[in-house]
Amino acid sequence: MPIVIRCPSCQEFQMSTAQKIVKCIKCNKSTQRQNLKIFFQSDSPQACSEVVKRLKEEHFRVHGNYGEDDFFTYELNK
Ligand SMILES: [Zn+2]
Repeated sequence: MPIVIRCPSCQEFQMSTAQKIVKCIKCNKSTQRQNLKIFFQSDSPQACSEVVKRLKEEHFRVHGNYGEDDFFTYELNK
């Protein structure tokens, strides 16, 4: 079942289906799934990716400290 987690190393929100070890799509760091906070869980990968998008947007709105690449991604997705 897909879950939404946040990488403890680079703080990137992302979806994962890993059972034990979650590997970050951004910084490649591997973390035991049991050590991660699960933000959202659903049978639907679509629902999970929506949550990832919302979390990123919320983070941007509150902190506004994304890197340049993420900023442009955010702008394009609006
Ligand atoms: Zn990471």
